[in-house]
Amino acid sequence: MKVGNKLTIQIVIALILGIIIGSVFNLMVDQTWVQWIDQYIFNVVGQLFLNMIFMMVVPVVFISIVLGVVNVGDPKMLGGIGLKTLAFYLASTAIAISLAMLVANFLNPGEGQSQLLDSDEVSEYRETELEGGATAESINQGFDQTLINLIPTNVIEAMGTQNMLQIIAFAIFVGVAIIANKDKTSGIVSLFEQGNDVVMWIVMAIMKYFAPIGAFGLVATAFVQAGFGAIQQLGMYFICVLLVLFLHLAIVYGSAVQFLAKKSFVWFIKNFAPAMGVAFSTSSSSAVLPISLETAQKNLGVRKSVSSFVQPLGATINMDGTAIMQGVATVFIAQLSGVDLTLMQMVTVVVIATVASIGTAGVPGVGLVMLAMVLTAVGLDPAAIGIIIGIDRLLDMTRTMVNITGDAAIALLISEQQKRKEAASESQA
Ligand code: ASP
Repeated sequence: MKVGNKLTIQIVIALILGIIIGSVFNLMVDQTWVQWIDQYIFNVVGQLFLNMIFMMVVPVVFISIVLGVVNVGDPKMLGGIGLKTLAFYLASTAIAISLAMLVANFLNPGEGQSQLLDSDEVSEYRETELEGGATAESINQGFDQTLINLIPTNVIEAMGTQNMLQIIAFAIFVGVAIIANKDKTSGIVSLFEQGNDVVMWIVMAIMKYFAPIGAFGLVATAFVQAGFGAIQQLGMYFICVLLVLFLHLAIVYGSAVQFLAKKSFVWFIKNFAPAMGVAFSTSSSSAVLPISLETAQKNLGVRKSVSSFVQPLGATINMDGTAIMQGVATVFIAQLSGVDLTLMQMVTVVVIATVASIGTAGVPGVGLVMLAMVLTAVGLDPAAIGIIIGIDRLLDMTRTMVNITGDAAIALLISEQQKRKEAASESQA
């Protein structure tokens, strides 16, 4: 069952309505009835939808990765896909953040705005976030620890905390064990296949019956809280992030789809739009994962064995949109502070932001936590994050959309390359 055009249109209308109604309500946010509608209607339908799709993340990821490994059949080939995925992810993130710093250095969003550094938001952030224990050092758990944490010590806990990398690791072990015992494991393979049909049916049903109304609720409540008013002072920063997100989407993913996957980019966007809409409303790559897997497999024809491996990995380790926000924010905050970043400092930002995105869950606002780390690494004051917190939710929506679109573009690319390679070797034989 394909995610059809009708649903795409419904989701897009829901998002537009959510933005308009939420923004209008934001202007009247002091009224009790507005607060009532926001809390008991927008927020409730939005959170119900969010819970429903979050509910599906662990079963979908676990089952589809086990099946993905079984379908690839050869652990060596899996290693090949893994390395290729990693290379594409790291390269696209490094390009994203470099592009962000380039454009920000050109547009100078922070010029002449140094008074923002004295705002109450900065001191509030310093008191609540930094002195509350979440210092950049404590967030930075170190690359060694990230590596060690790849393997769970307790599978149930990994699933309970939705630790994506640990779930992926365990699922790979199970998949490889099934292949290694091929003659004895046909029963469990059928079980996983049927389990996959069941969970995917639930995802489709949630999409069909709840996505438009849920997306509306989430977007409306976000706009009631933030509103466009907050953007005014930070207009240039806001535009700069949006511009780079758009450029990255059009140029980097556009070329990847058009030239490497050899598919039309317009076709890609049109067919992947339902998942992008849900990403916009939830601001969470992890939550949207069941839907982006389904949409990539059914609408874009990405092979299940590739999609189920590449996209869950991407939801955690590939966050180009987030990297873009960090690049622009670092240049912005440096300009506010009157600091000229050296080339070495810029390279540090690229490396730290790329590495920091590995092992960070795709949930709302996590990009800001990572930003604290990046700022500290180049000697800027992490409390300056307080300035951009107010409008971050609105940017989070857009960058999450870019994050998951990147994962899908790379999944499509790897799947299409695989298909072409197989077709070539078949025609040779
Ligand atoms: N919300 C983003 C995601 O889930 C992460 C972030 O940029 O905060 O992909």
